[in-house]
Amino acid sequence: MAENASNAGPEPGSRVTIGITFGNSNSSIAYTTDSKAEVIADEAGDRQIPTVLSYNDGDEYYGGQAKAFLVRQPKNTIAYFRDFLGQDFKSIDPTHCHAAAHPEDTSGTVSFSVKDKEEESSTLSVSEVSTRFMRRLVSAASEYLGKKVTSAVITVPTSYTEKQREALIKAANDAGLEILQLIADPVAAILAYDARPEAEISDKIVVVADLGGTRSDVTVVASRGGMYTILATAHDFDFAGVHLDNALMEHFAKEFMKKHNTDPRSNPKSLAKLRLEAEATKKALSLGSNAQFSVESLADGYDFSVSINRIRYEMVGRKVFEGFNRLVEGAVKKAGLDVLDVDEVVMCGGTSHTPRIANNLRGIFPETTAIQAPATSTTAINPSELQARGAALQASLIQEYEAADIEQSTHPAVTTVKHIANAVGVVTGENGDVFLPIMPAETAVPARRTVQIPTPAEGGDVLVRVVEGGTHIKVTKPEPKPAKEESADKEDDEDDSDFDSDEEEEEEKREKIWKIGGELAEAAVRGVKKGGKVEVTINVAADLGVTVTAREVGAKGGVRGQI
Ligand code: ATP
Repeated sequence: MAENASNAGPEPGSRVTIGITFGNSNSSIAYTTDSKAEVIADEAGDRQIPTVLSYNDGDEYYGGQAKAFLVRQPKNTIAYFRDFLGQDFKSIDPTHCHAAAHPEDTSGTVSFSVKDKEEESSTLSVSEVSTRFMRRLVSAASEYLGKKVTSAVITVPTSYTEKQREALIKAANDAGLEILQLIADPVAAILAYDARPEAEISDKIVVVADLGGTRSDVTVVASRGGMYTILATAHDFDFAGVHLDNALMEHFAKEFMKKHNTDPRSNPKSLAKLRLEAEATKKALSLGSNAQFSVESLADGYDFSVSINRIRYEMVGRKVFEGFNRLVEGAVKKAGLDVLDVDEVVMCGGTSHTPRIANNLRGIFPETTAIQAPATSTTAINPSELQARGAALQASLIQEYEAADIEQSTHPAVTTVKHIANAVGVVTGENGDVFLPIMPAETAVPARRTVQIPTPAEGGDVLVRVVEGGTHIKVTKPEPKPAKEESADKEDDEDDSDFDSDEEEEEEKREKIWKIGGELAEAAVRGVKKGGKVEVTINVAADLGVTVTAREVGAKGGVRGQI
């Protein structure tokens, strides 16, 4: 029966594993060799494989070839189906399938009718469509690796329900693929960054901006000692890659109408051509500052070729770009944080290649926040490949476990785990007014941290005050400038035009300041040697009970107290 599905998988020793992202627009497959993950190209050479299936004369096409069939035979081409998996027909949004095979209601579940054999049509459930597509991914990976792929880790959105997870696992199992684990999209992206040899696994707050084709997901994650806790998520279907395509389509349609008195959006074939070329132009504008939009016989037999520069494109897509900004800012706020709390922004998903989006985030976050995107960092990993790579790394880590053990022991993201709300630290400083954090807020428990605290050079008794710490944002308004005195104190504005620098002078300075909160414990370490050091250990148990130990380094004894 169903429970046996995962037991039917291969023995751990004989698994061949890959990582998969199965997106609504594109999918990717990756494998790990010598602890390095690589994305695999399909037979057509694509690493971002459009999640599309198409049938022509009884032959099945997938990926880029199938996507091209959206122009010639949209009714036999199934696109944007991933989001329907595990959903009732009445809860789906079929908007994106408008120019492809339409989803149908089969007893409440979603299906598509296509002519998949030379003479006959079939009604395929979305589960069957997903299985067929996944079979193609597995076969592309098997061919590339020269051995049959048996098992995979697949990434899923954080909003995926239990029903959607089950439906995905079933579709994969039906394609002969054992699913080792489903991991959250943003966690896969962070894993790919943390697996780099030069990566330091430090405590950090990471915002993952996953900007795809039909949806955008922003997740705020606390990474504490290699453990990931999701603090907030935001999902959006109104600001994503297709909305940038739509903006460009409208722009080019209007340009076309200026020349020829006909709207290319008024017939389905012209519309499909317009859409494919608008997307290609958009991608070209991520790389170059100019791009050519060129379509043969766009409408009424007229060819159309026109160029666009990046500045124009950024004006055309302004509303969508602003939407991305709001989405990211909203997610940070939802996590109860300020942009100053964020150490890193990891940008993933195809739309994250867009320079304007990365540059806007560069402007929103302070300079200390790393913005990991091609436009803002030379060491950024390709945003389209991050998640498949993370999944492949995770697959290689867990492939040796028995299927039954994987579920309990290897969750990379523990969303329900308890974590401390405030930082815990000690009070230091000559005036006893400086907070030295020992354990940052959002650390998942149980946890244990040790620090050495500054002590007076001459030794003696040391009082250790363990407190909770909070942060607040200190806003410093700029000094009002004497009316006509310019230049001298504003050297770093040299590139800006005059009226820009006026605006910059108005800008206020925002800093994160620690605030000493409630006292948790006080301990006295007596008779510390001259030049001796005091070490404080904080241990927070799973039930959030705190144990504090303070002792002189190298000396016997010490003080220990339970709170
Ligand atoms: P979703 O599930 O949200 O539909 P996905 O995860 O399946 O998306 P992705 O490959 O992450 O798909 O994103 C696809 C989007 O990224 C498309 O809108 C595509 O046009 C866009 N995209 C891909 N490459 C680039 C690029 N170089 N510049 C700008 N946009 C790009």
